[in-house]
Amino acid sequence: MRLIFTGTGNAAGVPAYGCHCVACVRATQQTDRRRGPCSAALVVGGETTLIDAGNLQLGERFPAGSFSRVLLTHYHMDHVQGLFPIRWGVAKSIPVFGPADEKGCDDLFKHPGILDFSETFAAFDQRQFSELSVTALPLNHSKLCLGYAFEYKGKKLAYLTDTAGLPEQTMHFLQRWKADVVVVDCSSPPKEIKSKNHNDLSMAIDIHYRVAPKITYLTHISHQLDEWFEKTGTKCPEGVVVAYDGLRIELTK
Ligand SMILES: [Zn+2]
Ligand SMILES: [Zn+2]
Ligand SMILES: [Zn+2]
Repeated sequence: MRLIFTGTGNAAGVPAYGCHCVACVRATQQTDRRRGPCSAALVVGGETTLIDAGNLQLGERFPAGSFSRVLLTHYHMDHVQGLFPIRWGVAKSIPVFGPADEKGCDDLFKHPGILDFSETFAAFDQRQFSELSVTALPLNHSKLCLGYAFEYKGKKLAYLTDTAGLPEQTMHFLQRWKADVVVVDCSSPPKEIKSKNHNDLSMAIDIHYRVAPKITYLTHISHQLDEWFEKTGTKCPEGVVVAYDGLRIELTK
């Protein structure tokens, strides 16, 4: 099982438009420090599943036929905007799974084009795609939002964004499930007043300790968090890694 981080930024991305903080200036100069909309590609047994579709160049990055399906965490624009142009494409129908959010995003459901939204995930639904097992996990966010627990040949990866902490049932599931790898929302530096929609660094680290995977990757990162790491020189605890665009991880026996 291979996971490619195709985007690790929050909705603003890095560099954020018009910003001159150290993180944004550096990202302007060094393309490898940029962060695009939070998304990933999961490759198992020669099949690619896209997790979220916020990449504005989704169609160029993943030509028709190069992936089998899209799993959406939720219908906020930064997670679905790449679908808007490709829906008018001339290609085989693309199954797009996600939570049963009646509103969806803008007119995607009204005019789906080649996208097929007919199947949805409810909390703790489990589906099998060939040898890949996927379980949907409810998250805490301003819109109906699902994380996904992936299992393939005994290897387990949980992808958990966007969320502020975890609902109790999701935490209990993960504590029993014993993930090898967790990918989790970490949108900001530690905050005194906690957001109801996103983790800050201390909330993400708390999830790492409570779920206790072998390794946790932080994603959905803001330029403020990059700037804070740069200015404070803070290091993550052992087993916690800040992901970056293009990072590939392999889960092998
Ligand atoms: Zn900035
Ligand atoms: Zn969101
Ligand atoms: Zn988001």
